[in-house]
Amino acid sequence: MNCYDLLGLNSEDIENVTNLDIKKNYRDLMKQHHPDRNNGEESHQKTVDLNEAYDLLTYPVTKKIYDYSLKGGNTDINVNLDIDLRDIYYEETKTIRYTRSTICVNCDDANNIDDTVQNEICTVCQGKHFYDEYEDVPIQIKKFYYNNMILQYELCGNVYIDENNKIQTSSLNVTLKVHDYQNLKICDFLNNNDNDQNGNTLNKSGDLMTELKISLLESICGFCTKIDYFDKKMNIIYKGVTTGGNILIFKGRGIYNISTGLRGNLYIKITVEKNDFPENIKEYIWKSLTGQDYKNSIVYNAHSSIGLEAFY
Ligand SMILES: [Zn+2]
Repeated sequence: MNCYDLLGLNSEDIENVTNLDIKKNYRDLMKQHHPDRNNGEESHQKTVDLNEAYDLLTYPVTKKIYDYSLKGGNTDINVNLDIDLRDIYYEETKTIRYTRSTICVNCDDANNIDDTVQNEICTVCQGKHFYDEYEDVPIQIKKFYYNNMILQYELCGNVYIDENNKIQTSSLNVTLKVHDYQNLKICDFLNNNDNDQNGNTLNKSGDLMTELKISLLESICGFCTKIDYFDKKMNIIYKGVTTGGNILIFKGRGIYNISTGLRGNLYIKITVEKNDFPENIKEYIWKSLTGQDYKNSIVYNAHSSIGLEAFY
């Protein structure tokens, strides 16, 4: 039962409840439950509750916050914070700005003064006794943070009055939305079950994925090249034959995995540029590897560049 109901007032229509209504109903109910008339345990508890409700609703600060709480203002504040893989890698500090309701410090001192007889209305809160303020909270990103992780900051939310009529402050919940950084992408292809109960992808593996385009020559003979790796360059050396679609795995070159405490892997997907060798080079390779003449081969003598041969 809320304080309005307790005092026999309409809690559905609190805007139209006046200070006089509160005082009148309080007096009437106190008379009814006065020990001279009602000496039971129940009546005693009732007078305690009535006094509490009366104090709360006649004290301007708590009344405003209470009204706000009744309208659902006692909920946590939920915000998203967009970060990228680089913020995690370098443990950057990000700032989030959000609004929360807070008690007006400017007029809280004057809490004994009745709203209706106050001559000057507080310029900070316009007489509401609490107000919405901007709050900037710096958030230090940690190396093991992951996508859709929720960081909870207690006492950083809205002020409200709880079911025991005590002033409380709710929590601020920050959901991290981790984005790719340049060529580096979040990779979860080995972690298909990496979701929370709401189906949000968590990407906790710490695995990263990037693509590398190489030439036909490099795919046959091997390569030594550089890729962008956050603020640095990383040398990739590969001796041997690779083909398009191959994935090179570099263990421990991802970001941190909160479950294992180790760094995930870096997966590099190879694509081969579609170019060709001159005829004389093909002849040389063919001869070197088969011992036969390229110009006598079926491939060389085929009528079209691509086709199907009938079975016979
Ligand atoms: Zn104020």
